[in-house]
Amino acid sequence: MLAQDKIKRVFCIGRNYRLHAQELNNVVPERPVVFLKPRESILFEGSEIIHPAPGRDLQFETEWVVRIGKEGLYKEGETAADWIEGMTLGLDLTLRDLQESLKKKGLPWEKAKAFDGSAPLGAFVPYVPEKLTFTCHVNDRLRQTGNTELMIFSIEACLAEISRYWRLLPGDIMYTGTPEGVGSLASGDRVTIASASIGAFSWFVR
Ligand code: MG
Repeated sequence: MLAQDKIKRVFCIGRNYRLHAQELNNVVPERPVVFLKPRESILFEGSEIIHPAPGRDLQFETEWVVRIGKEGLYKEGETAADWIEGMTLGLDLTLRDLQESLKKKGLPWEKAKAFDGSAPLGAFVPYVPEKLTFTCHVNDRLRQTGNTELMIFSIEACLAEISRYWRLLPGDIMYTGTPEGVGSLASGDRVTIASASIGAFSWFVR
């Protein structure tokens, strides 16, 4: 497994699936929405998800995650395979009610999305430039099914947008957005995310 200290930055793409943007009453964006989580938000398998603010609405967002393998700026015409060396699945955990109130006030949403343990992350496998499907089960009940074919912005489009503001580094990772079906987690839940091409990863919520 790639150690947490080998990961540089955790880029996240928001609103990258039409039906998810709609379920949260968000406008479908014209350019990729980008935010970051601190590296310390990463939570590998074997640790528990600890609710950071009991009483608030902790929600799962299942996402395809890719790892960047080289340094520089993405240039038009380059392919994802030129830049991406690994892939896995992760959860972009979100305190939804807090995020909604911060959004309404026009305030940054780090407290709702970048808290300790907000980025459960599976083990990386070599990147394969193919569309893939993935699922999220909570307590063995299917909650989300994703197909990367439905991403509004491709890996290339996301790398291009990030490169306008940040120089890419090997070890940077990118959460690519969640499909519809996000929902709440409670203490005692077991959440499992899986893809045939990648594997299955589980966490308990405490
Ligand atoms: Mg997300």
